[in-house]
Amino acid sequence: MNLYEQPVHILHEMRKRKDITTVDICESVLKRIEKTESQLHSFLTLRGDRIIKDAAEVDKKIQSGDPVHEIEGMPVAVKDIFSTKGITTTCGSQFLKDYVPPYESTVTQNLQNVRYNLVGKTNMDEFAMGSSTENSAFGVTRNPWNLDCVPGGSSGGSASAVAAGQALAAVGTDTGGSIRQPASFNGIVGLKPTYGRVSRWGMVAFASSFDQAGPLTRDVEDAAILLQIIAGYDKHDATSLKVEVPDYRAYLNKSVQGLKIGLIKDLDLSSCDPEVVSIFENNLAVLKDAGAEIVDISIPNIKHAVATYYVIAPCEASSNLGRYDGVRYGRRSTKKGNLIEMYEQSRDEGFGKEVKMRILIGTFALSAGYYDAYYLKAQKIQNLIRSQYYKAFQKVDAIATPVAPTPPFRIGEKTDDPLQMYLGDAFTIPANLAGIPGISVPGGFTQSSLPVGLQLLGNHLEEGKLIQIAHCFEKSLNLEKPALAI
Ligand code: GLN
Repeated sequence: MNLYEQPVHILHEMRKRKDITTVDICESVLKRIEKTESQLHSFLTLRGDRIIKDAAEVDKKIQSGDPVHEIEGMPVAVKDIFSTKGITTTCGSQFLKDYVPPYESTVTQNLQNVRYNLVGKTNMDEFAMGSSTENSAFGVTRNPWNLDCVPGGSSGGSASAVAAGQALAAVGTDTGGSIRQPASFNGIVGLKPTYGRVSRWGMVAFASSFDQAGPLTRDVEDAAILLQIIAGYDKHDATSLKVEVPDYRAYLNKSVQGLKIGLIKDLDLSSCDPEVVSIFENNLAVLKDAGAEIVDISIPNIKHAVATYYVIAPCEASSNLGRYDGVRYGRRSTKKGNLIEMYEQSRDEGFGKEVKMRILIGTFALSAGYYDAYYLKAQKIQNLIRSQYYKAFQKVDAIATPVAPTPPFRIGEKTDDPLQMYLGDAFTIPANLAGIPGISVPGGFTQSSLPVGLQLLGNHLEEGKLIQIAHCFEKSLNLEKPALAI
């Protein structure tokens, strides 16, 4: 048995029984990184064998009978969007290439409080703008199921690291699907919590009204463990919700008998890959066999979700990214020139193509004369979509959809066609517009062994119920995974 392939909760039980040590686990993960990283490129920064030293400390505690947290000493990867004190945080951008944060994000601080073992910072689309990790300023990440395919994005490095066993779990962020879609593309679990459930303090901002951090893990139980650690109120984030965090593990090992799962009848699956549709139908049958009732619901404005998001997100991005001027924030151009030229040159050299495009779109949509036609209109549609979800949740416990219309696509396949890339986010974006939680669970594999996920959406703050349904689904499906390509 390869330790790097096991979920955290199983390894924790094994080390408690003294069958293995935390050092064994970390050595297995490090060897795996040595073998695969030159091809996958999941990481932008690695802590190397320092994780062994941390693991040895935890083993001493176990030896002396002290209680240890499940995550203590366990190798976990963190998306390079989280500020980590003293450790470079690039956000996938040339602009922040040499940025070493003087403070720690709340998410990583919460992980530190239970003494997690940081393996490294993972690759991502620049400023989290993208769905394939191809927009990283530091090269693409490859999908461990097929090295010619993308790992999804923007948390692609986090997802490939977990799938390939380069880390046992990871944290990512999701603004329009960036946790759930890479989870689907890598055959792992990804959970986007309710907006406000997890603090955004210390996360590099993209679209602040959508950005939300969450776990990427090998199974649902690990997602519950990670969410428990990172969720909760934080006075540093004005949008953080001051509500109690339930015990997420209490939702494991429960049935779905009598629960209602909504099927959005307005969702057009005709443009989906046929294998995605048949896996989705099979997944619904599994939920039904497990005792859930499938109920039709309607989100009439869902067809406008992609257009709405791709107005609001660039608007917020254009404002958030205004701070990168080469003076207060970011790398300054070394070219000679006056103040204005220095700003222009720094921004020209610092930002990649996709980021520049979004800044331009956002600035245009917010400009006088266009504000009402674009931003205001988009916000109105967002409100409609939000209320349509709330209405639906009066009838159902959760909503099921595919995560993405396709399995992982080939590297380069969509880079020249941004619209195609954006349309791939059609099933994940609505949850961000509505602020509701969503989870992606492995649903099956295509004929060519590419993973496809099932998405479950829940009502505001009902992550527990999502964990319950996803855990029951995971056990009922009992998916046999093919071998990785690496
Ligand atoms: N793919 C979407 C975008 O490019 C979502 C990204 C994200 O969730 N960070 O904006």
